[in-house]
Amino acid sequence: LHRLCLVLGDQLSFDLASLQGLDAERDTVLLVEVMEEASYVPHHPQKIILIFSAMRHFAQALQQRGIRVEYVTLDDPKNSGSIPGELKRWQSLVAPDEVHLTECGDWRLEASIKACSFPIHWHSDTRFLCTRSEFSSWAAGKKQLRMEFFYREMRRKSGLLLNGDGSPVGGAWNFDAENRKALPKNVTAPYPARFSADAITRDVMALVGEHFSHHYGSAASFDYPVTHEDACALWDYFLDYGLAAFGDYQDAMASDEPFLFHARISAALNIGLLDMRQLCADVASAYQAGHVALNAAEGFIRQLIGWREYVRGVYWLKMPEYASGNRFANHRVLPEFYWTGETQMNCMRQTIGQSLEHAYAHHIQRLMVTGNFALLAGIAPEEVCQWYLAIYMDAFDWVELPNTLGMVMHADGGYLGSKPYCASGQYINRMSDYCRSCAYKVSESTTDNACPFNALYWHFLMRHSDILRDNPRMNLTYKNLERMTDVRQQALWQHGEELLARLDAGEAL
Ligand code: SF4
Repeated sequence: LHRLCLVLGDQLSFDLASLQGLDAERDTVLLVEVMEEASYVPHHPQKIILIFSAMRHFAQALQQRGIRVEYVTLDDPKNSGSIPGELKRWQSLVAPDEVHLTECGDWRLEASIKACSFPIHWHSDTRFLCTRSEFSSWAAGKKQLRMEFFYREMRRKSGLLLNGDGSPVGGAWNFDAENRKALPKNVTAPYPARFSADAITRDVMALVGEHFSHHYGSAASFDYPVTHEDACALWDYFLDYGLAAFGDYQDAMASDEPFLFHARISAALNIGLLDMRQLCADVASAYQAGHVALNAAEGFIRQLIGWREYVRGVYWLKMPEYASGNRFANHRVLPEFYWTGETQMNCMRQTIGQSLEHAYAHHIQRLMVTGNFALLAGIAPEEVCQWYLAIYMDAFDWVELPNTLGMVMHADGGYLGSKPYCASGQYINRMSDYCRSCAYKVSESTTDNACPFNALYWHFLMRHSDILRDNPRMNLTYKNLERMTDVRQQALWQHGEELLARLDAGEAL
C-alpha cells in the first residue's frame, strides 16, 4: 500500500503518529506552504518565517533519513493556495492507496480537510498527554471544569513530581502563590539565546519580505531556532540559566526586558521541534538533582501538563460554538495602537512594542497588560482573539482561543477562570517597573493624567455588576466598591466614560 502522509506546519516531530511505520520505498510525505494559512489573519512575519523555515529544515531532515518528501513552496506556480487544495492535487498526482494525517490543532482547518471527498486515516496527536476523547470523558457530567483538578489527574497520569504513595512532592499540588515575586533591582536576566539565520532561513525571509511585508511586526530581529537541534540548545540554555529564577519571577515584568527568565520555547514546542514529555522530565530531574527549587519545577510543569493540555481539551470539547462566546456583549473595536504600540501607557507600549519586535510577550504581559486593558475597555472578543493569533509566534487556534476568549476576556462563561482576570494599575505597578516611566500616574484615578487602568477597572465592575456581583470570588472587590461614596463612584464612572469615548473616537490613550 502506498501512503501519502500530509504533515502540517505545526506537526514537525519525527515521532508524529502519522509518520510511524512509513515505508521509505513506497510512501510519500507531503509538506506545503500555503497562502491561506499564512494570511487568514495577518500573522507576524517572524511567525511565518519560523514555520516555513522549520518546515523546510524538517523536510530536509526527513530526506536525510531516506524518506521520500514532496515539498511545495509558497511561490510554486502550481500551488493551489490552501491545504485542502494541495491535498486534493497531490492525491490525484500520486494516487496513493491511503492518505494519512495527524489530527489538526485548528478546528477550522480540520473541518475543511474533512470536507475532502476521499477517505483519510486520522491519527490522534500523541504529542499531548491527554487525548481529545480522554478530556471529554473527564469533563462529562461535571458542572464546572477546573484546571486545578484536571492538572492533578495529569500529574497522576504522568507520574511527575509524585511521591511513592502517589501524593504530590512537597505536600501540595500547586505552588502558584510562590511564583509571583516582583523583580528586585539587583537581579538581572540572562542574555537571551539567539540563533543566526542559515541559507534556508534567509531564503524564507526574502520570500516573507516579498509577500507579507504589509503584516504588522518586524522580521529583522528574527533569531529563533528552526531545527530540533537548535530548539534543544534553546531549551538547555533555559535549564542552565533561566529555570531556577523562573519559579520566583515568572509573573514579573520589567522595562526593556522582553524575555526575563522565560524559556521562550512555546513556539518551538507548538510546532513540534520540542517534546513536551522530555521537557517535563528534564525539569523534574533538575529538581531532583537539587538544581532548582520546587516552585520553579512545579510552576513550569503546571504550564505544560496543566494549562496547555487543559486549554486544548476545552477547545476541542467546545468548538465551534466556543469561538463566538461574548459573555459581556462587548462590541468595541480594537484600538489602532494595538498594532503600532503608539500609546502613552508605558505598560502597553512596552508589551505591544516587544510583541511587534519579537512576536513574543510572556503570559502575564499578555494576560494582565494587553489582555486586562481589552477586558476593561470592552473590546469585542473576536477582535482581541484575532490580534493575539496574529501577533504571537506561538499562537495557534487551539491554544490562543481559549487563552484569549476564555482566560483574558472571560467571554466563555468561566471554563478558563472562575472569575475575570481584571485589575487596576496597582497590579501592574506591583509586578513591574513600568509605572515609574509612564506619562500617567498610577496613584490617581480620575484626574486628566490618571492611569487609565484605574477608572476603567471600576467602570468595568460597575457596568457588569449584574453578572459579577454574585460571584463569591468577587465579593471582596464589590465590597470595596460599595464602601466608596456615591461621589467617588460617580467620578470613576464619569472618567471611565470619557476614556471609552476617546477610544470610540479613535484616539490613542
Ligand atoms: Fe500602565 Fe497605568 Fe502604570 Fe502607566 S501608570 S504603566 S498606564 S499601569
